[in-house]
Parts: sequence; structure tokens; C-alpha cells
Amino acid sequence: MNIAFIGLGNMGGPMAHNLLKAGHALRVFDLNPGAMQALAAAGAQAVVSPRAAVEGAECVFTMLPAAAHVRSVLTSEEGVLAGIGPDVPLVDCSTVDPASALACAELAGRQGNPFADAPVSGGTGGAAAGSLTFMVGATPALFERIGPLLTCMGKNIVHCGDVGMGQVAKICNNLVLGVSMAAVAEAMSLGTALGIDATILAGIINTSSGRCWSSDTYNPYPGIVEGAPAGRGYSGGFGVDLMLKDLGLATCAAKSAHQPAFMGAQAEQLYQALSQRGDGRLDFSAIIKLYRPS
Ligand code: NAD
Repeated sequence: MNIAFIGLGNMGGPMAHNLLKAGHALRVFDLNPGAMQALAAAGAQAVVSPRAAVEGAECVFTMLPAAAHVRSVLTSEEGVLAGIGPDVPLVDCSTVDPASALACAELAGRQGNPFADAPVSGGTGGAAAGSLTFMVGATPALFERIGPLLTCMGKNIVHCGDVGMGQVAKICNNLVLGVSMAAVAEAMSLGTALGIDATILAGIINTSSGRCWSSDTYNPYPGIVEGAPAGRGYSGGFGVDLMLKDLGLATCAAKSAHQPAFMGAQAEQLYQALSQRGDGRLDFSAIIKLYRPS
């Protein structure tokens, strides 16, 4: 298929590579010329604008930092909606708030283009390996239509409901992740301050009722999980500022639903404090630094 892919960063770059590998023809755009060069070297056609990218496209993917970027890529003069063909589906894989996904769907729908929100989990490793989980908000017909393309980039393709529901699933999952990482950091710091060996404590948690991904796969205490960011100064991985963004999306969405988000709001403040210290680019498991200043 002819595909337009806009936003070739840490996630979009490898995702676009996987579409190329599966034999699709790609026209790509990113504000960063370096990101486009890497794709062009692999056989994609680099173009000068989102509008040029969607020329002749049968499906359009966007993978951008936040809602404002998505809106601008869709609606600017040289944007997607200025050049997209009739009935061509638009799939936004960025993590944004559910209301913004609905607003984009409304804009696209006005000119007859079906829209799906399809945020992902699995991180940069999953993007490179083509093993992402896609949380898709779309009509059943559109879900069927884009499924084969998503399978080139992910292993777990889940239809979460109508437009916006992919984002609902994503921000709720990341709320749990942000809170559970802070809880594990707090417990590991408390336990070791009270004198227990960190490995013994992690082993107990990981075989007891406190067990969770933040503890057994991604433990924030150095030396517990081989390959986790804690073992390399919290470099790489999923950034504090991205977690902060996602918790902000969750607490904002909670406000609009008149729903309390006690833990999400507390966790948001913790990551905010970490970001303010200048640690926004570190992996989010660096939250333990708030408990173990060094
Ligand atoms: P990134 O910052 O690495 O990439 C974003 C890319 O978008 C950059 O290359 C940037 O130049 C480009 N861009 C920004 N504005 C643009 C515009 N107007 N036109 C064209 N290109 C533009 O971010 P990322 O890590 O790839 O994340 C993308 C999205 O995926 C975010 O919403 C993020 O929350 C989500 N996400 C990230 C991860 C992760 O581990 N990094 C995991 C799951 C979901």
C-alpha cells in the first residue's frame, strides 16, 4: 500500500521502518531532517510537508509528541487535511487526551476521512521489534481496515471501542504505571533505609502481593533487574517528562469526567518535582531519586 507517515521520532522512526520492511511504499515527513534521512536511506520517500506526504496515500499515520502537534499537522495550510484523498483513513498513534482524539475525528470526518486513535505501549524496544500493543478507538469497519497495517508494527492489536477509547485505555494504563513505579521506589527506599538487603526485599515483593511490572521487570533500585534503566544511571527508556505528560492527560480527563484521581494527581506532582530538578529526560524509574538523594 501507499502510506504516509508523519513524525519519525523515537517511536515513529522504527514503526515506519517496520512498514517498509513489510513491503509498503512510504512517503514520510518530520520537522527533523535527520529523522527523514534515516527513513529515506531505507527506501522511503522524504517530502517537504504533511500535505506532500499524503499525496496518493491510501492510509495516513501520525506519531507526534502531543495533541497540539497533531492538530497542527492536520490543519495547517500544508497539512494533512489540505491534501488527503477522499475516504483515506487517518490513524493517530500519538498519546493525547481522548477529547482531542474526538476533535480530530470530527475534523477528518467533515471531509469524509475516517479517523482512528491508536496509541501504543511497548516503548522504543517494542517499536523496533514490531511487538507494540495498539489500543484502537475506531468504528468496527475502520478497525478491520487498518488491522493488517497495525500488525506490521505490533503484536497485540486491541479494539477498545469508538474513537477516543484507545486514548482512554492508554492514559489509564499509564496512570497505574506512574503510581506503581512511585510506590515501588518508596518501598525499596524505605526497606533499605530500615536495613533490609535490596535484593531480598525485591525478591519478597516479586513473589508476594506487592508484585507488579514496576518491581519485577523494571525495578527502580539499582542492581535488581539486569538491563533496567536503574543499572545505567536511568538513561534511555521512557522519559520522566513523557510520564508527566501522560499523568497530566489522566488528571485532566478525570476532571472532565468529574472523577477523582487521588493517586494520579499525587504521582503527577512527584514526576513534576523530578522534572523541575532537571531530570525530565531520565527514565521515569528515576523517581526513586526523590527518596534516595545522592
Ligand atoms: P519523539 O519526540 O521522539 O518524536 C516525535 C517526532 O515528531 C520528532 O521527530 C519531531 O521532530 C516530530 N514532530 C514534532 N512536531 C512535528 C510537526 N509539526 N511535523 C512533523 N513532525 C513533527 O517522541 P516519541 O518518543 O516518538 O513519542 C511519540 C508519541 O508516542 C508521544 O505521544 C508519546 O507520548 C508516545 N509514546 C512514546 C513512548 C516512548 O517510549 N517513547 C511509548 C509509548 C507512547
